[in-house]
Amino acid sequence: MTTTAETSTPTIRDGAFGNATGLVCRECGATKELGPHYVCHECFGPLEIKYDFPAITREQIEAGPANIWRYKALLPVPDDIEQSPNLEPGYTRLLRADNLAAELGLTKLWVKDDSTNPTNSFKDRVVACALSAARELHSKVFACPSTGNLANAVAAAGARAGIKTVVFIPSDLETPKQVNSAVYTENLVAVDGNYDDVNKLASEIAGEEDGWAFVNVNVRPFYAEGSKTLGYEIAEQLGWRLPDQIVIPVASGSQLTKVHKAFQELIALGLVEDKPYKVFGAQATGCSPVSEAFREGWDVVRPTRPDTIAKSLAIGNPADGVYVLDICRETGGAIADISDDEVRAAIVLLARTEGIFTETAGGTTVGVLKKLTETGLLDPTLETVVINTGHGLKTLDAVTGLVGPAATIAPTYDAFVAAGIA
Ligand SMILES: *Cc1c(COP(=O)(O)O)cnc(C)c1O
Ligand SMILES: [Zn+2]
Repeated sequence: MTTTAETSTPTIRDGAFGNATGLVCRECGATKELGPHYVCHECFGPLEIKYDFPAITREQIEAGPANIWRYKALLPVPDDIEQSPNLEPGYTRLLRADNLAAELGLTKLWVKDDSTNPTNSFKDRVVACALSAARELHSKVFACPSTGNLANAVAAAGARAGIKTVVFIPSDLETPKQVNSAVYTENLVAVDGNYDDVNKLASEIAGEEDGWAFVNVNVRPFYAEGSKTLGYEIAEQLGWRLPDQIVIPVASGSQLTKVHKAFQELIALGLVEDKPYKVFGAQATGCSPVSEAFREGWDVVRPTRPDTIAKSLAIGNPADGVYVLDICRETGGAIADISDDEVRAAIVLLARTEGIFTETAGGTTVGVLKKLTETGLLDPTLETVVINTGHGLKTLDAVTGLVGPAATIAPTYDAFVAAGIA
């Protein structure tokens, strides 16, 4: 008796991916049907979602919920996405940052504060889109290799959706980021190696195991689209306008490329006026392969071995590095990097000027904003947005030695006066 193969693909329902029509190779333009694919079968280039958008109005978007699903027509998700349990991330605050602007000598500055997402980083956006894809593709396991925040977001979103999660991290990751994953999942796997080793292992598992959705590997095209919502929100919150300059942290580079894609889509759909804007990338010197390539004028990014406190940005071989270079060069922006001490100082600077506690990635971004201003690469008279992608409570160690009690005193008025604080 012959048995039929059990690997037959389950049917994908109509409208599972909204207005998305297929996958397209960013290098050669070859197309593929929507599914758990991420590399071009012709040239091994990365695949990206393509769409056929209907007319979409500002009013339609404004009538939507106060989370990323207000932009569902622009994402590869079904129209009934709000019915499926998810963490409803997004629509975070865009805060005018006049104190920080004054400190840095800028005229008009905004902080897009993504530290207030459900698991306190921008990763909840991308994971929500990957979760929808995993659900529509009937995946059995929701997984990721992670520098920390992604593992938190995958573990939490999977718990809420009732799907099994397995998350892989470098074993030297900050304790708070380990706990923030392990609290949501039984399957936190610490790997002895750096992120690039963890990522390689994940690709191997994705190739061997059936029905695993690795959010940033085999469903990466769907995942990546979630970052576009940062761009949509910034434009909408500015009153349907684009900023003149934007500073974005770079790990794999996905977020930066997708914020740019979002701005381009808004222009193409007539939702904002077409105008020039400059995109800037931020890295920590201890892992700055894209910044190095920018400085040296290279078209390729040379992989590096990360050594920095900005662990959420510590990807030595960034998948979207060359696209980041293209975008920053084409728009007249730049990419810069700063030392770990400058990262620490910038965390404290943002906290003391604006009351926002950011993690090392945000310290990197704010510190690079400062450096770009000082070196004249960023125009201080233009309207600027800086993205804070994660929360400082996850990387407390970064500033523990830098801030603390101004005095330790006896519980008496005299002791207080003697301390010289009044
Ligand atoms: C992952 C991450 C980034 C960068 O993401 P990429 O899209 O890989 O460049 C930035 N900030 C934080 C806090 C992150 O966790
Ligand atoms: Zn190709």
